[in-house]
Amino acid sequence: MDITRPKTMPTENTPCIVCEIPATRNVGDGVVRYDCGRCGAFALSGSAEAVLPSMLAEAPLRRSLMSCTLRRMQRPDSSRLHTITSYDLPSLWAQGSLPTPRQQTDALILWIGDHQSTPFDLVEIHRAELAATIGLPISKPDDAPGFAWLNSQVEPEKLYEACPEGKIRTRVQAHHGGMEEV
Ligand SMILES: [Zn+2]
Repeated sequence: MDITRPKTMPTENTPCIVCEIPATRNVGDGVVRYDCGRCGAFALSGSAEAVLPSMLAEAPLRRSLMSCTLRRMQRPDSSRLHTITSYDLPSLWAQGSLPTPRQQTDALILWIGDHQSTPFDLVEIHRAELAATIGLPISKPDDAPGFAWLNSQVEPEKLYEACPEGKIRTRVQAHHGGMEEV
């Protein structure tokens, strides 16, 4: 019997192995690729994928730390990814703690500055992606509680507003003078 085996298996919809929001998973040549709206695109060796759930379960914060690290590793071209092995895994949560609220706010301001072409532009981004970028802990659903908390910390600055469909809209430039005091 002639059996042809596809080199890459079809895309499977599955929760992200790291942050658990809906993601896609592909297997090919012993490497598993995830595309996640929070963590971004990342590739695990088969053995790394096998041991990761138990390693994440050892310390709940590891999920948030790894999601933040993966997001910050993203490059514009995600077609070629470095494969993370089981030996690499501990380095993805080695920082041990998430950024402080001040650092999260600074990262938010930097991100907006990098993505806003003029002071009057609004920048839209999926909330979960921005949460990982600035290092908020994972909070369900869709990082809404995390942003509600951050918003309460920076409310007077009006850095951004929540939009439907899990998006964040920012108009930070007009308040730039006040941001140094956040
Ligand atoms: Zn994820």
